[in-house]
Amino acid sequence: MSKISNEWHGIPRKEIPWYSTVDKEKCIGCGLCFVTCGRNVYVMKGKKAEVANPYNCLVGCTTCATICPVNAISFPDKELIQKIEREHAILRYVQEEKKKKGAKIELEKVRAEAEKIVSSSPHMAEFTITGHILEKEIPKKLLNIISQCKCDIVNFKLETPSLKVCFDEQAPSAARFTLVSQDYADITNCMEKIDKLLEENNIVVVEHKKIS
Ligand code: SF4
Ligand code: SF4
Repeated sequence: MSKISNEWHGIPRKEIPWYSTVDKEKCIGCGLCFVTCGRNVYVMKGKKAEVANPYNCLVGCTTCATICPVNAISFPDKELIQKIEREHAILRYVQEEKKKKGAKIELEKVRAEAEKIVSSSPHMAEFTITGHILEKEIPKKLLNIISQCKCDIVNFKLETPSLKVCFDEQAPSAARFTLVSQDYADITNCMEKIDKLLEENNIVVVEHKKIS
């Protein structure tokens, strides 16, 4: 079970009285709510379901009430949640969350695309470099090189121990990236251009592996 947040869109979870109530008279102890709820809200006690962790309940969820075969589970009216949404003006908060979630999904999509490119590229080379990568605009210069051929650079990972120290005290950064191509001649040609660019900019190639 992943960690359950103690907030709901910025509101402390304990300020939201959304949780289930079990009618013990009706409950037949089938355990369906207990085994279905992924948030450990229920325990089984004396052949009856009991709400042990009410604030673990996902605000707005009513799954256990829907599936209970004898309608022994009830929830507050949904108007309660809508009132809380209005009072806490959560839609403003949700805008930020929406932006973050959208960006995360986009990032995952790009990652998947990069993996696809790597797995379908017969020729690749890995570079590990160090030096003034940001100050010398190396990513931009690399892009300029690969824009002129069919190669691509994937999984570019930059490591800067401190931005201030890098810019103010000229401390080095490190980067790793993979050059990929469908064409052997193309990748060889591109690698030569990248090596030349790195040399001209005093970037040290720590490791340079042609994988295929
Ligand atoms: S699903 Fe309903 S009947 Fe079954 S244990 Fe839960 S509350 Fe009781
Ligand atoms: S409503 Fe959903 S989260 Fe809440 S107790 Fe039922 S199954 Fe669990």
